[in-house]
Amino acid sequence: MRKKIIAGNWKMNMTPSQAVALCAELKDLVKNDDVDVVYCVPAIDIVPVVNALKGTNVKVGAENMYFEEKGAYTGEISAAMLKDAGVEYVIIGHSERRDYFKEDDALLNKKVKKAIEAGLTPILCCGETLEQREMGITMDWIRMQIKSDLQGVAAADVAKLVIAYEPIWAIGTGKTATTAQAEEVCGGIRECIAEIYDKATAEAVRIQYGGSVNAGNAAELFAEKDIDGGLVGGASLKADFGKIVCYNK
Ligand code: PEP
Repeated sequence: MRKKIIAGNWKMNMTPSQAVALCAELKDLVKNDDVDVVYCVPAIDIVPVVNALKGTNVKVGAENMYFEEKGAYTGEISAAMLKDAGVEYVIIGHSERRDYFKEDDALLNKKVKKAIEAGLTPILCCGETLEQREMGITMDWIRMQIKSDLQGVAAADVAKLVIAYEPIWAIGTGKTATTAQAEEVCGGIRECIAEIYDKATAEAVRIQYGGSVNAGNAAELFAEKDIDGGLVGGASLKADFGKIVCYNK
């Protein structure tokens, strides 16, 4: 049985002091030992959030990292720095980074490998545009992303990672994929992993749905057999996140 994982993606929100206040506000609301709970926070919030969450059930994730070990990469943060600061997860390939920062699959593949090498768990994002969905190439596109981003990654490492299926047209739009659409693609990703690797790896990897998840739709989405939780943007910044985390209570 895969344990569900529900992660908040704070994006570029919350100053360090606001971040600490939000951790305190959500502390009792996000207690649920049945699921893994993660806050993926801006780089500058990592240290205060790690400290604020000590002794709680919540783990800390980063929203990005660079693949090089160290050196002259002004403004970047390495996997080793994240690990040393107490980070356990890192979002890789969010559609906003693919789009605004032109991150391509070759770069993301390097990031995935470096994160794993450093002992971080990647939350690898994939997803189609509305245009791609309407053209009927959703699964072709996502299979291409998954195969490219995981090129050369060993089965044992894939089994431990998290993949987030996030249709781009559903992110921050209030337009959630239907449960059937989300399950169809999450199931398709699992089939893709079984083809590249094997059935055991496919059964082990956790696949989240992300895109306008809220307190009203989380329980139905997370009840699907191939949806192992969610990556939550907007709703992770408010008390509603507690209801999403405790969807099974
Ligand atoms: C996201 O940022 O990954 C996301 C899914 O955002 P939202 O929940 O706001 O759609």
